Amino acid sequence: MKKLLILLFLVWHLPAGAQQIIIDTTQLLHDIRTLAADSMEGRQSGTAGNGRAQQYLERRFREIGLQPFGDSYRQHFRLQTQKLVVEQAANLIGYIPGDPAKVLVITAHYDHIGQQDGQIFNGADDNASGVGALLAAAAHFQQHRPRHTIIFAALDGEELGLQGAAAFLKSPPVPLGHIVLNINLDMLSISQKKELYASGTFHHPWLRPYLLQVQPLPNARLVLGHDRPEQGRDDWTKQSDHFQFHKRRIPYIYFGVEDHAHYHKPTDTFQNIDPAFYTDAAALVIDFIRIADAHESPQQKPVK
Ligand SMILES: [Zn+2]
Repeated sequence: MKKLLILLFLVWHLPAGAQQIIIDTTQLLHDIRTLAADSMEGRQSGTAGNGRAQQYLERRFREIGLQPFGDSYRQHFRLQTQKLVVEQAANLIGYIPGDPAKVLVITAHYDHIGQQDGQIFNGADDNASGVGALLAAAAHFQQHRPRHTIIFAALDGEELGLQGAAAFLKSPPVPLGHIVLNINLDMLSISQKKELYASGTFHHPWLRPYLLQVQPLPNARLVLGHDRPEQGRDDWTKQSDHFQFHKRRIPYIYFGVEDHAHYHKPTDTFQNIDPAFYTDAAALVIDFIRIADAHESPQQKPVK
């Protein structure tokens, strides 16, 4: 009887709708390790290594069962900087259908900065980690069907000026007015303080209560911030692909960690990530998407 009462007490005190997110850790670590392997040569846009990352992601999208828009996951675009032109840069885009007029867009860039002076910059944390978490989220929602349509976009050209995100928004697979929220994942696997930041509630305070519902895990907890203009360089509003959504007045939340010793260094390798933190960080992100999916979002009027 006492045990039953304790059980009832516990169940009663679980937050409404709370649910443990189960992550396939083996798959998650396999994904980040593969994308950060030397054979991917740092995944710089336009390189053979970047192309191998595309092929791997296409295979994973197919395995998970994401639907393509049209007959391919690929969205090709021309990428240009002062130093180089890539005629066939490629975003990989798949989706899980739900309400066609209410769309969540999960983004993570798979490109990185390639090789310099014979050294490979593997970009395990930046941003094989975000892409691995995107794949874990896709697998989760394939099993637990969402109310919203959820688009999963692995973006190219982030390191060369957020150009994959710009291309996605220039030729969006759904009308921009249907996108209620962008959730951008960029660097999720290294934090000594076990802190994953959720940035963006300064601009979109209606998302705060949803983030506060996310339950902390043993190896990672959410912290809100890094989004106020007076923070200068510590304001992350412009620092990754979510900024392209923000510029078009599409709400966003960006998940990422604070800069660390391996940021944009050849030591950003699979060996230097924290697997326990990473797994829990991915689960926190999926929990947030689940909560956002369960709620209505305010009507938005995006800018073309
Ligand atoms: Zn990045």
